[in-house]
Amino acid sequence: MSPFEVNEEGYFGRYGGAYIPEILQPCVKALRDNYRAIIDSDDFRKEYDALLRDYVGRPSPLYRSEALSALHGCTVYLKREDLNHTGAHKINNAIGQILLARRLGKSRIVAETGAGQHGVATATVCALMKMPCVVYMGATDVARQRPNVEKMRLLGAEVIPVESGNKTLKDACNEAIRDWCCHPEDTYYLIGSTMGPHPYPDLVARMQSVISREIKQQLQAKEGRPTPDYLVACIGGGSNAAGTVFHFLDDADVKIVLAEAGGEGADTPRTAATLAIGSEGVLHGSRSLVIQDEDGQVIEPYSISAGLDYPGIGPLHAHLVRTGRATSLAITDTEALRAAYELNRLDGILPALESAHALGALHRLKFKPTDVVVLTLSGRGDKDIDTYLAHAHDFD
Ligand SMILES: *Cc1c(COP(=O)(O)O)cnc(C)c1O
Repeated sequence: MSPFEVNEEGYFGRYGGAYIPEILQPCVKALRDNYRAIIDSDDFRKEYDALLRDYVGRPSPLYRSEALSALHGCTVYLKREDLNHTGAHKINNAIGQILLARRLGKSRIVAETGAGQHGVATATVCALMKMPCVVYMGATDVARQRPNVEKMRLLGAEVIPVESGNKTLKDACNEAIRDWCCHPEDTYYLIGSTMGPHPYPDLVARMQSVISREIKQQLQAKEGRPTPDYLVACIGGGSNAAGTVFHFLDDADVKIVLAEAGGEGADTPRTAATLAIGSEGVLHGSRSLVIQDEDGQVIEPYSISAGLDYPGIGPLHAHLVRTGRATSLAITDTEALRAAYELNRLDGILPALESAHALGALHRLKFKPTDVVVLTLSGRGDKDIDTYLAHAHDFD
């Protein structure tokens, strides 16, 4: 078995597990006992692959950027998840999980969302599958992410602002879990990243693994070899990164670089760099690294990017970094912004602020001319236009 695969108990090395209230035990057990058989079945694969092709627009292109290649002195490819329906990689997971929920006999979907991207993806697939959808979102995020809230409501979802805690993503997760505890029979919790109790981290990684499956085939066609020298992805909970690396984990020659949100710097209190400063703890159902104080109280993270603003990290990624299989870099707000304007001007592609952290990481690395780098552009920047306009003069 690969050292990077989840074990029987739901752990990646030291990290993972299922720390859940007793009332959820039957739901999580049913999911754990059935998810692999369902998602590996021909019937599921057929429906999932057809929707990824005809509804999402896959395969997403692997675009060779001449400008970034010249800038960094190597060959840089962008995996264009920004071109997916709804504008990011999140839809891959949402489609897969709603098909799974139906096969488990569930009739109602709950989800958490931070910036609203996962909420929009979930509301979209619920409209497609005619299932009622409740999205929990911190009241602070509801106020600062208006367009996504309106999109979810137009799609027919009920968006519930969460007033507890700091009223952001962590609090929305708590509330979604509470709802699930109240309706364990009919409700499926459609989680948005590689986090939560086992089997969610493994399930979400598998739903996103289509990204690395396509990269292999596309690189073979373009470069005559299936493996790159570097894979680079941004990391909030870890789902686009997990999808990017999934089929390369056992190729030790493929270097993995994870770009987390440094905020104003990993050495300041205004950061979301969990891999840099987190310590071991249990958050939202799994043991991983958490930004917390000495009493184990979660410290509210900060990043300019709402999608990376999470005080935890998926257990797979904690394991990859702590075992040395992956390297993590804390990219600051300023580095991410600069990289976003750069790509916009060089290639005419405005990236999501989250993805801009991965682009920022390129400037920290030293490449050989023969290196082939694949960077996952997890989403498009339309949602971040106000932030980009507000800071544009800083980078003239
Ligand atoms: C949500 C989001 C992320 C962060 O989530 P991961 O699970 O770490 O991928 C990154 N990029 C975009 C565009 C997002 O919407």
